This record gives sequence, structure tokens and C-alpha cells, in this order.
Amino acid sequence: MVILDNGIAAIGFSKTDGSIVYLGDLKRGIRYVERPGTVPFRIEMENGLDSCCSRFSYSRNESFKDGQAYELTWVIEDGIVLNGLIQLDDGSDQIVFKSRLENSSEKSVLAVEYPVIGNMDSISEDDCLAHPYVTGFLVKNPLKSFDEDGGLRFMPYPESFSGASMQFFTYYARGKGGLYAAAYDPDYYQKWLNFYKSGGKLELSHIYGYEDIGAGKGLKADYPFVVKFINGDDWYEAADIYKEWAVRQEWTQKGTLYSRSENEKAVWLLEDTGLSTFGINAKHDRTKWLKAFHDTIGTSIFHILGPDWVNDVQTFGMGVPGGYDDWVPTKFNKENLVLIKEQGDRFAPFEFDFLVDPNKSDSENLKKNLIKWPKDPKSHDGYKFNMLCPCTDYTKDLHIKRDVQVLKEAQVDSMYYDISANNLIKTCMDNSHGHPVGAGREMTLAYREIYKRTKEALSETAGKYIPLGTEMMNEVFIDVLDYYQARAWAQPCSALETWPFSSLMKTGMAQMIPMFTYVYHEYAPVRLDGWGKLVEEIGELYYHTVAKIYLWGGLYELNYEYSPMEAIDGVETRPEEHYWNFEPKGYKFNEERAKYISQFAGLRTGHGNKYLAYGIMKRPVNIRSPKANLDWHHYNHNTNLERGSIEVDAILTSTWLFNGDENASLAVMLANTVNKKEEVTFELDLKSYGLSGRYKLRLFSNFDSKGNAVEESMGEADAAEKQIISIDLEPKKVYMLEVYR
Ligand SMILES: [Zn+2]
Repeated sequence: MVILDNGIAAIGFSKTDGSIVYLGDLKRGIRYVERPGTVPFRIEMENGLDSCCSRFSYSRNESFKDGQAYELTWVIEDGIVLNGLIQLDDGSDQIVFKSRLENSSEKSVLAVEYPVIGNMDSISEDDCLAHPYVTGFLVKNPLKSFDEDGGLRFMPYPESFSGASMQFFTYYARGKGGLYAAAYDPDYYQKWLNFYKSGGKLELSHIYGYEDIGAGKGLKADYPFVVKFINGDDWYEAADIYKEWAVRQEWTQKGTLYSRSENEKAVWLLEDTGLSTFGINAKHDRTKWLKAFHDTIGTSIFHILGPDWVNDVQTFGMGVPGGYDDWVPTKFNKENLVLIKEQGDRFAPFEFDFLVDPNKSDSENLKKNLIKWPKDPKSHDGYKFNMLCPCTDYTKDLHIKRDVQVLKEAQVDSMYYDISANNLIKTCMDNSHGHPVGAGREMTLAYREIYKRTKEALSETAGKYIPLGTEMMNEVFIDVLDYYQARAWAQPCSALETWPFSSLMKTGMAQMIPMFTYVYHEYAPVRLDGWGKLVEEIGELYYHTVAKIYLWGGLYELNYEYSPMEAIDGVETRPEEHYWNFEPKGYKFNEERAKYISQFAGLRTGHGNKYLAYGIMKRPVNIRSPKANLDWHHYNHNTNLERGSIEVDAILTSTWLFNGDENASLAVMLANTVNKKEEVTFELDLKSYGLSGRYKLRLFSNFDSKGNAVEESMGEADAAEKQIISIDLEPKKVYMLEVYR
């Protein structure tokens, strides 16, 4: 074994094949790897991802003076050579990996997996993996939870539905220690960030490729892929480390949402909107529901209307449009649009912006411009869609021309794109689109350009800022999009993303964490989430989910994609008017459920707005919440309709810092989501949030949709002294403790 050791960190590789055989955190006394390694690397050629090596050699880089660095060389076959670099700086707790593959052969190399750190022991049974899959996913005891060769084996980036929304993850045990792994790539290269179970042990890896594939073409990962030893101070520790790098990249250069001018953000969405809906039929008269929702919630509502507005069809059962002529003229129900406007609500049409039926109008052109998917996408998703390639002029022109026409016909407030860039692997194997085969980074840049140019054209036509939203979100698009639809914060009472882990979600061994929000909230698009219904039958978990979504900075979303709307006056919407042929339910609109949302909508648009729309998410205060076993009923999908119950915290909390004004202020949000009065006590350490000097404290409660709330003074505090705060929480109420000057 050759070992790099600086007294803090140590990493060793095999002299025979270069695999990692030792990984030790010397400061905390944790040995992660201490046995023969798995494989040093894998490469993907014609026959899939494989480890194959004929000759290995290594040498110390003597010119590197600030620590230890080794260059590793594997001659794979004639003309194909992989070079790896392992570097450990003096005084550092972080190991840096880089690699490149030289190819002068007649063969094509698609991807390289390097480094591979396998045969890893678990730190303890209280260990966790936190990964930016679906914007933030935490798995307890991954060695036990994951199946063999399962877990987060292939996690493409930039993707979000089946991959990584950011470029880091962490494996840790609280109070003991952990690993932080990150790719510091500012340039949008396609990669896979993986942590999984293999050979009965844990393994982590980084894959890159699918950029420019061809005979004689090499690959490189010049950006650092780092593995760093950390304290294991929850997943926030890793997120704090990543955030320092992340907020200096191109995608945050427009500045925070708060600092942007009114023609660079959707003020109505950020400040006036208290609730969102998704899938209310666009073509049929839904004024009864639109009015009932507005009247009970009280704030402005943002509706992403269902896909039934196109000239042709856009449904799950009957197909999707082809070229331009299948989209327009539009078929919106005029009464819906008039009422939405009159009430001060807003809307966007649901649009499959790249998904087409190549056998419909303009068929010949569509077929020439389709993404050619890779044979093995290395993802939970198979990407079995006919998608237009974003790199071609045809796609760019159609996207802009169609959406401008939709805006002209229906005066939309926004456009919403389903199964768009955040759901797709960034690979097109076509060789006639003007991009290299693979195209990874170029695909991402093309999506960015399309969103930017469409938004500019729409805003110019409308004479005001027109925001755009997509399904899911990834860091590389946060400066060109304004909101995103997600569902997973409602798990286990929801569908779609996280589906490969649904049994873990139901037992609580896997759960959603607000990782993306914690890193990017003050810069990032608004999250719509909830998969909700205003009916009693959805179960008691509803109260918990609503609170979680608002307290984590999102807007709750009512969803009617695969199920009827609430019955009003004994009438619910009929399946034949929807795009999914569901079973009628007859569940009644429940005003009490809507009123519960109303207080959160009031908090979001009123006293809590600057925190929940513009604030920086901080670590929550440490409360000891009683547990509650809450039932749920999921009936809004084509499959997996089910019921269950899950144990969750009865009290939810989040902490937000607002520093847009001269004096920074802090808000601790608290929600009691059960029917019993609860008292909560916690320590508030203002210094830990960067505050100093004297502050006033006040408690807001009983929020209404007009911006009113009951305000109660809680005295003053000096930031140098830790405060012990006790608050009585009435059943099913939300509170905001504000620390301000
Ligand atoms: Zn293409």
C-alpha cells in the first residue's frame, strides 16, 4: 500500500492495482476503509460499465510541495490510458481526486467512474446518508436500508427527478464523524454522484462522461472531486460547506431574490400568493371551485391549470401534441380566466414543452429533432419519452413562437413546463443536431438559453415580467426559472419522485430534508408541493404536510392530476373531463381544511413574508416534539392508491434569517399540527445566527389572509446570552417568534 498521511487524514492505495485500500479520519479515529479495495475505477465502452486494466503504475508528484500527491496510470488497452490524481495538502482534512482518460484508439469511451471508494464500513448503526436526490433525501442506516447493488447507485447530475440536484452528499453519524463528498464543477458537466451498497459494504463513486463521444476522443474531470472528513454535525454541516462554494457560481450571480428589481422576479408569486393549485381543468368551467378556494383561503392563489387547453390533445391517456399547429389556437374556458383575473388570482398553463408526438403535425421535422437517448442512461428513469433536443434551432424557435402565441391568446401570467430539463438526463446521442455526441454540458447550456429567451420574449410581449416554472429543480437552472412543482414533501401520501424508495419512505427509514432550500432558498425558485386535497378523507397527515411545506419556505399545492376535484353541492368533476380516467370518489370540499391553510397563507403573505419568501434558512432550534401517529390516504395517482399511518413530529419548526435590511432579523416558526395543546421549550442562541447586540422579541399568532395577526411582546434579549424560550401552542396553529430591532 502507498499511503498519503498528514496526521489529520490518511488515504492509501494498492501498489498492485491502485484501488483505495485505506481511508482514515485520524483526528476522530474513524477508519472507513481498511481492507483490500474493490476496483480502482470503471470505464464504460460498448459493453457497459466495467473494470478492466492491463497495466498499473504510479509515481509521486515531487514538484507538489504543499503536501502529498500521487499520479496513478492505468493502461487499459492500446491507446487508452486513464490517469488519476490523489492529493492531500498539508494541514488539510480533505482528499482531492482528479482524472482524465487519453484515447488514441479507434474505440469510443462513453464514461469513466473515478474515484471508486468501496468496501467501506458503516460508522455506526445511527448513521445517515443525505443526498441532493429529489432536492434532499435522507436515509437512515444505509447499509441496512439499501439492497445489495442498490441505494443511490446511479445519480445523474444535473437532474432532479432521478438524480442529483446539487453536487455534494454526506455520510455521517451524529456526534461521531462523517464524510463530505463534492464535485466543485462550475461548468455544468454531466456527472453521477453515487453512494450505494456493494458486496455487503458501502461504496461511493463519481462518474463523468457523455460529453463528446467518438473514436480517438478522451474524457476529463479537471474539477476537484473532494472527500472531506467532517464532525457529523447533522446534514447541515455538509450543506454549510457546500453553500460557501455554491453561492459564488454563475447560477447565483443575479443576486438574491430580495435584491433583484421588480422586472427580474415574480413579485406577485413571492409576496401575494398564499396557495397554489395544479391540474384544475383549463377547458371546462371550474368557476365554482376557483371561487370557493379564493373565498375560503382569502389570499391570491396561483393556478397551474391542467393540460386540456391545447388545440389537439395533451393527456396521459390520449396522447400529446406534435408541431406548432397542434398547440394553437388554444381552448381555455373563458369564464375560468375572467374569474381568475377578477379575484386577483394568477395562472399558468401546464405544457409539455419538449415532449411531443412525432407522428402528429410537422412530423418530419419533429423526428429529425428528437433526443436520441443513450443505451444505458444509468438512472432510475428509463427516459422513454419523445423529447425535442434543446440544442437545435427548430426546438428553440418552436418553444418561443408557441409560448408567445399562447400568451397572446390567453394573457397567461406564467408558463409551466412538465417533464422539462430538471427531469431529464443531459445526453443526446444524435450526430446530426450540431452538438457533439453525448452533449452533456451543451444540453444544459441549451436548456438555459431556451428558458432565458422564452422568458424574454414573453415578458416583452406582455410588457411585464413573466415567470417560468418546471417540474422539479436543479441548481444549474435557479437563475432562469422562477418556481418548481415537486411532490415529495408530502410523502408517503404522494407519488412520482422518490418512487424507488417508497417502502423506506413509509417506514420512516428514508425521509425528505430541505437540503436544496437550505443551500439556495434566498436565490432560488419558489417550491410548490403538497399533492393535496381539501377533503377529510385524505387523512390527518395533511395538517403536518401543510405546515411542513410553508415552514420550509414553499407554497402548498392542491393537485388534481389523477383524481377528481372536491365535491361541491354534491357534484365532483367527471373523469372524462380530466386527462386521467379515475374512479369517482365523491369526497366533499371541507371548509375547515381550507381554513387551516388560510393561516399559513396569511403568514406567508403577511408577517412571515420576508423570511419565507426571501430569507436564509438556518438550522432549526432544538425542540423536543411529541410524536404523533397520523393517518394518510393517497388516491391521486394512476397506481399505488393506498392508505397508511406514519409517526411524525407533532410540532414542526424552522428558523429563518432575513438580512436584506440594515438590521438583520430572525424568525422561529412553530406549528402544532395535532389536536392537542402543546408546550414547547427551546434554547435560542442568537450569536450562532450571526446576531450581536440587543434585540426585541415578539410572538405572532392567529394569522389571517388580510395580513393581520395577534402580536405579543416577549421582552428583550442580548445576543451574547442564550435565551430559554417557552411557548404554549394551541392545537393546529402556527406561530412566529421574531427577533428584531
Ligand atoms: Zn440532440
